[in-house]
Amino acid sequence: MEKNNVLPKIPSQREISSFRTKLLRWFNKNERKYPWRDTSDPFRILIAEMMLRRTRADQVKHVYEQLFLEYPDIESLTDAEDEKIEKILYPLGLKWRTQAFSLVAKEIKVKYGSRVPETRDKLRKLPGVGEYVAGAVLSIGYGKKEWMVDSNIVRVFRRYFGVGTSREGRRDKHVIEMAKLYVNCNDPRKANLAILDFSALICASRNPVCKECPIKMECRC
Ligand code: SF4
Repeated sequence: MEKNNVLPKIPSQREISSFRTKLLRWFNKNERKYPWRDTSDPFRILIAEMMLRRTRADQVKHVYEQLFLEYPDIESLTDAEDEKIEKILYPLGLKWRTQAFSLVAKEIKVKYGSRVPETRDKLRKLPGVGEYVAGAVLSIGYGKKEWMVDSNIVRVFRRYFGVGTSREGRRDKHVIEMAKLYVNCNDPRKANLAILDFSALICASRNPVCKECPIKMECRC
């Protein structure tokens, strides 16, 4: 999509702010409830986001609750035996991810005195943490104006604003620019949660519910 490193024309801050305002109005009545949304602890949010990668939220819910019931903080998690953690995380599959939880907890304890780092660069260097999880921790956990993009957010941008994207749209510079404009507001946490829920419940990958969509009048799809 991007040729000669020239960004395709992206919507203005004003257009994106108007889109966000409408999503937030919808979100106020339709927010999905999950245990990791009842906390502002960046460590719990980090672990939840790592669990949610390629896994349904319903599957994650029980595992998340079990893990933090047994090991409520970084200290107890780093002291836990690997086999016990593996047993709790077993339903999620993917052994590398199970190991990543222990590694990430140990690294935060040793390198950062048990406090989850507050910059994208430092977060991205943690085991198993990529751009998306870093953005989620910063915006949802710390309330910072930090962007996050996954394939669901790309889809909403593509449909609603009519922008082209590459197959790996989440890496496109112009998509990231849009996500930065989108989160440039007073409540970045809520803004990012709103677009996630909207992409899951209304502008779904298959069978979007366009009839009930609160922004259908302006959608370019
Ligand atoms: S009208 Fe349909 S395609 Fe457009 S944003 Fe709404 S749900 Fe998505």
